[in-house]
Amino acid sequence: MAKEMHEFQAETKQLLDLMVHSIYTNREIFLRELISNASDAIDKAHFESLTNRELLEGNETFEIYLAPDVDSNTLTISDNGIGMNREELIENIGTIAKSGTKAFMEKLKEAKDSGVSDKEMIGQFGVGFYSAFMIAEKVTILTRKAGETQGYKWESAADGSYTIDECDKDARGTTIILQLKPEFHGEKAEEDFTSSYRLENLVKKYSDYVRYPIKMNFVI
Ligand code: ADP
Repeated sequence: MAKEMHEFQAETKQLLDLMVHSIYTNREIFLRELISNASDAIDKAHFESLTNRELLEGNETFEIYLAPDVDSNTLTISDNGIGMNREELIENIGTIAKSGTKAFMEKLKEAKDSGVSDKEMIGQFGVGFYSAFMIAEKVTILTRKAGETQGYKWESAADGSYTIDECDKDARGTTIILQLKPEFHGEKAEEDFTSSYRLENLVKKYSDYVRYPIKMNFVI
C-alpha cells in the first residue's frame, strides 16, 4: 500500500480548528483523554482474550507507557490494547461518530451560561482524541490490531488532512506520538509536557482510577 492522503470530514475540520485555536484553558486534560482511550483499548483486548487467548501473542501484561523526550520535544503515549486496522483508523479517528460540531458548539454556549466546565464538555462529546491538537502541532499514531499482522501509521498536522501508511509494529496496540507545540516543552514553556514530574502529577490528578499500570520513561 502506498501512503494515502485523506481529507478530514468537514465537521472534523471544524472541531480540529477549535482544538488548534484552543477555546479551552485547561489544555492539560489531553493526557486524561489519551490515557482513557488507552485504558478502553486494553479493556477491549482483555475482554476479547477471554475467548481467544491467542490474541495476546504471549504479551499478557497490560500496560500504558508515557515517554517524554526532551531531545525531540515529543510525548509518546503507548498501550498494548486492541489497536486499530486501516478501516478502523479512518472510521474512528477521521470522523466524528457521535455528535456534530454544531451540536457541540451549541452545547458549549449553553454550558458557558450554566457554568458547566470545559472538562465535562470535552468528555461528553467524545472529542477526546482531538484534544491532542491543543498541545501538539503534529500527531502520529502507530497501531496494530491484536490478531492482525499489518501495522499502520496515521499522521496529521491538523491542516485539514491526514495520511495513512503501512508500518511495522511488533507489539499489538497503539502508540501516539505528540510533537509538542513550542509553548508546551522546555523549561521556559507555558506548560512543560516533557517534564516527568509534571506528567506524574497529571496522572495522579486525572488518571488515578485507571486499572492498568501507567509507566514512564520506557525505551520505544
Ligand atoms: P471516544 O473515546 O469518546 O470514543 P475519541 O475521539 O477519544 O472518542 O476516540 C475515538 C475512537 O478512536 C475510540 O472510540 C476508539 O475506537 C478509537 N481509539 C482512540 N484511541 C485508541 C487507542 N489508544 N487504541 C485503540 N483505539 C483507539
